[in-house]
Amino acid sequence: MRPSRSTSVWLIALVVLTLAPPPSWAWGPHGHRIATRVAEARLNPGARRAVSELLLKGDTLVDVSTWADQDGHDAVPGSAPWHYVNVPITAARYEDRYCSKGDCVVAKIKHFRTVLADRRAPVRERQRALLFLVHFVEDIHQPLHVGDNHDRGGNQTQLQFLGEGTNLHRLWDSGLINQIDRNERAWVDRIEPQLTQENIRAWSRGSVEDWANESLQDAKSAYLFPAGARRPMESGTRLGKDYETFARPILERRLAQAGVRLANELNHIFE
Ligand SMILES: [Zn+2]
Repeated sequence: MRPSRSTSVWLIALVVLTLAPPPSWAWGPHGHRIATRVAEARLNPGARRAVSELLLKGDTLVDVSTWADQDGHDAVPGSAPWHYVNVPITAARYEDRYCSKGDCVVAKIKHFRTVLADRRAPVRERQRALLFLVHFVEDIHQPLHVGDNHDRGGNQTQLQFLGEGTNLHRLWDSGLINQIDRNERAWVDRIEPQLTQENIRAWSRGSVEDWANESLQDAKSAYLFPAGARRPMESGTRLGKDYETFARPILERRLAQAGVRLANELNHIFE
């Protein structure tokens, strides 16, 4: 039997929907690996030992930093909203009301930090807590994991960057990082000069909410480009090399802060 015309239309729609890339909610693997490398170098011996005891044999912290994106969604249904919090870029700061039912990155960092620190919790739970904590401390530092302009953190703001189609969220997850340098080691070297005593001291103060507020501020400038623009960026915007020049120091700082703070978390938990 031939499918009716309406059946064909539905089939086509289904195929198109299946092929459309899902919205992304994560630094790309590159961003996670870079920040984790920075953190790994800063672990004290106690934390290093505790982490390697929790990880499966042969795994490194860098390897598992992308687990929450790659396997976490299947392993823990309902975990997708844990990677971000949508705070309107018109808001002055993060507030708990943006973290609906505690299902957001701010609440989950606090939750998994507690589970990981609980020596009486089952090992399997602490292993999972480690994988999520590493990933979420990094995710919250990606400005578009916090700032939102009714566009799912930039996922629905379609752009051209250097002539290629992308969206604002994906651009900050991976497009800019890859454009600046595809080499992970080179990125870690690029971040190195940021790791001054003074910066580390300043970055080591503050709460998870403060990290979210910093991302919110950076997201505001990510949308309001060039500096002083009155209206946030909309779909159809074409961005060039000057956007990369603007974004580079923000990315360097956010990846450095993520690495330093992740190391602080683990050093503190396992001290
Ligand atoms: Zn993520």
